[in-house]
Amino acid sequence: MARVQLNNLEKVYGGGFKAVHGINLDIEDGEFMVLVGPSGCAKSTTLRMVAGLEEITGGEIRIGEQVVNTLPPGKRSIAMVFQNYALYPHMKVRKNLGFGLKIAGRPKAEIDAAIDDVARILEIEPLLDRLPKQLSGGQAQRVALGRALIKKPGVFLFDEPLSNLDAKLRASMRVRITELHKRLKERGLSSTVIYVTHDQTEAMTMGDRICVMQAGHILQVATPRDLYTHPANLFVASFIGSPEMNLIDGSMSDGMIRIGQQSVPVPAALDARLTAQPEAVVLGIRPQHLRLVTDGAPALEAKMTGAEFMGHEVNIHALLDGKQVVAVTSPAEYEAASRAGDRIRLRPDPEALHVFDKASGRNITRPAVMH
Ligand code: ADP
Ligand code: MG
Repeated sequence: MARVQLNNLEKVYGGGFKAVHGINLDIEDGEFMVLVGPSGCAKSTTLRMVAGLEEITGGEIRIGEQVVNTLPPGKRSIAMVFQNYALYPHMKVRKNLGFGLKIAGRPKAEIDAAIDDVARILEIEPLLDRLPKQLSGGQAQRVALGRALIKKPGVFLFDEPLSNLDAKLRASMRVRITELHKRLKERGLSSTVIYVTHDQTEAMTMGDRICVMQAGHILQVATPRDLYTHPANLFVASFIGSPEMNLIDGSMSDGMIRIGQQSVPVPAALDARLTAQPEAVVLGIRPQHLRLVTDGAPALEAKMTGAEFMGHEVNIHALLDGKQVVAVTSPAEYEAASRAGDRIRLRPDPEALHVFDKASGRNITRPAVMH
């Protein structure tokens, strides 16, 4: 069992800076948990405390039910993979892979078998007799993964392991790592993963669940789908999703939504989802849910200022009450609209619209019932 629990975990660095503010997180055995957030939000600090590389100031860390607060890293049944893969430069891949087991005094036959097993899983057999300098970035990262894998740890800790790779390689390594996780699970091996990244695409595509952090606090823990369809607050809303969610200041009263000089009736589908009625609100509309309207349906007037042709879709940029917004449309819709000039009409999909309380930043809409 390698469940990981963080209870009221705190970190104050020397000098008095509080980096982690009493966080609580329960990671299930075999779960792939992603910690995501902007640079400086304390993802690495949190991971390093789990690893035992950083002392904790308060609270408790449990790995597989055991409190590990003061256990040295070597006794925690963890393996860590960093952004800079830190292979031993003078050792061939085979030796790099087997080094940990050799230090632990394991017999040669066992080490050789373990190396072969890991090399097969990661498809690095042809690389075993190369030195690290003879590897590409992606190959070196796979060897680094192999070094973690061969330890058969209870928990894998990853700190931005793909950040040094180019975009294409990052995409293929993402798939490789998630498939590897699935395979370990199928083989009944320990496969709990805590994966740190600042990249929302990595978080969304890799995580069983995602923990969104900001300034040493946890803002939301949810599955990728729940995070996307129901962000708990403005920060999560703008952090998850691409292009970013449009966030537009407005007010609500007498059944009307007002944005600057414009007003539209609160759609019934939205009204049923509201959990509060503050006056000052922020409307959250994903670009994919802001539609071009060509008939007389209630809509918001905007001025088109530009467009990005993406191939299968076009991102229209427009000014709505002086604020830049983005709407994702089909190329055909975009062409029809642009022939008619730069005045466009946009309608938020009421089932996918989010309303945030401007004062607290909290999402005050319930998730829509999906059909
Ligand atoms: P992230 O990995 O999310 O980018 P870090 O965990 O590295 O963030 O850092 C979190 C905060 O703690 C930052 O404000 C950082 O400057 C601070 N910090 C990190 N390490 C130290 C340290 N050794 N001493 C003091 N402050 C630190
Ligand atoms: Mg970091």
